[in-house]
Amino acid sequence: MEYKIPRGTFDILPADSAKWQQVMSAFRETAQAFGYAEITTPVFEQAELFERSSGESSDVVQKEMYRFQDRKGRWLALRPEGTAPVVRSYVENHLEAQGRLTKLYYIGPMFRYDRPQAGRYRQFYQYGAECIGSHHPYYDAEIIALQVAFLRKLGLQKIELEINSVGCPNCSKIYDEALENYFEPHKEELCGDCRTRLQTKPRRLLDCKVPSCKAIAKGAPVMTDYLDSDCREHFEQVKSYLDKMDISYKVNPRIVRGLDYYTHTAFEFLNPALGAQNAIGGGGRYDGLIAQIGGKDTPAVGIAGGFERLLLSLEQEGITVSRPYRPQAYLVLLGEAARESGIRLLGQLRLSGFSVQHDPEKDSFKAQLKAADSSQARFALIIGEDEVKAGTVTIKDLAAGTQMSLPIGGVAQFLALS
Ligand code: AMP
Repeated sequence: MEYKIPRGTFDILPADSAKWQQVMSAFRETAQAFGYAEITTPVFEQAELFERSSGESSDVVQKEMYRFQDRKGRWLALRPEGTAPVVRSYVENHLEAQGRLTKLYYIGPMFRYDRPQAGRYRQFYQYGAECIGSHHPYYDAEIIALQVAFLRKLGLQKIELEINSVGCPNCSKIYDEALENYFEPHKEELCGDCRTRLQTKPRRLLDCKVPSCKAIAKGAPVMTDYLDSDCREHFEQVKSYLDKMDISYKVNPRIVRGLDYYTHTAFEFLNPALGAQNAIGGGGRYDGLIAQIGGKDTPAVGIAGGFERLLLSLEQEGITVSRPYRPQAYLVLLGEAARESGIRLLGQLRLSGFSVQHDPEKDSFKAQLKAADSSQARFALIIGEDEVKAGTVTIKDLAAGTQMSLPIGGVAQFLALS
């Protein structure tokens, strides 16, 4: 039996781990600088949490969710997205009691049974941030600014921001009727999925990737023409905050977002150079979700982005983010007596937090020094017969080629100060 990794998943191999760690740390640092605190929720939840929040008719629930029963027959789902779990935790743990505003961020794997292709996986890693507790348009702009700051920190320059307003449930309803009236005469030309969407959620037709549906959708009415005065004002305010923050954007009235819970602002970050899977991140306001999940009626706005497409973008822009891991020292031991005191030293240094490498299966001086070089350690700590007799260690600076002798008890202090 030859075991293979499941389709649509990938291993993060040691050679790539530093890069992943680096982008994840950059997100953590940016989110913390904006006043967001980390939250970690389980990778599976009650299936109903997503069915209710994302919408029964959404692609995520209809086609993409990993839904399964546990041994007691409970319906669970691997999380396809991060917002509903964060909101579930916010409500369940009464985080609202800690202050008017709760600003949270997360990092973790998400799961969608999607057709795998470049930049699209069945297990992928997302980062996200949620600002819960305010309807103020400043926060729509703040959450966008967080993503922009993160992209800038990484050095990415070619990512574009598109924003839209999907209005409140009232203007949404009027808009959906207008869409229905528009698409109804074209019903026979639509794909099977879109014919169902026309009945359930006409707005989803605007998101269809089938070329014939796309062509029809081109002439459809646009949401921004259906916003009531409050929604229009909110949108104007968000744009004005973005202008003040010097964040450039394009208004794209076609952005609808795949999930049901969005209200008002909706946005996408795109990298046109990525091809079909060009969305780096997206988000928006979801003022109705918290009440829908059983909490108090609380406004919120959030963003989520994918690390895989971010890493692809970094590669395309020729940006290297990983600092290779380098041990501080490599221990070279010659002879039995040296092994005795050397392993003792290795133990002490490692337990004190120094990174020291050693390979007991390499005997010769030459082989050990070669290994020290290829480990990229800064120093070789050499103990041979002479050093054992004198109670010293020879320390070789591997880049400079210089060496010096120190009493064995002084090595830790030397490493701490170098
Ligand atoms: P969404 O909630 O679908 O807008 O997803 C937010 C972000 O997650 C997207 O902009 C992508 O960067 C990323 N993403 C979504 N689905 C996938 C997937 N199947 N594989 C890789 N990245 C994804």
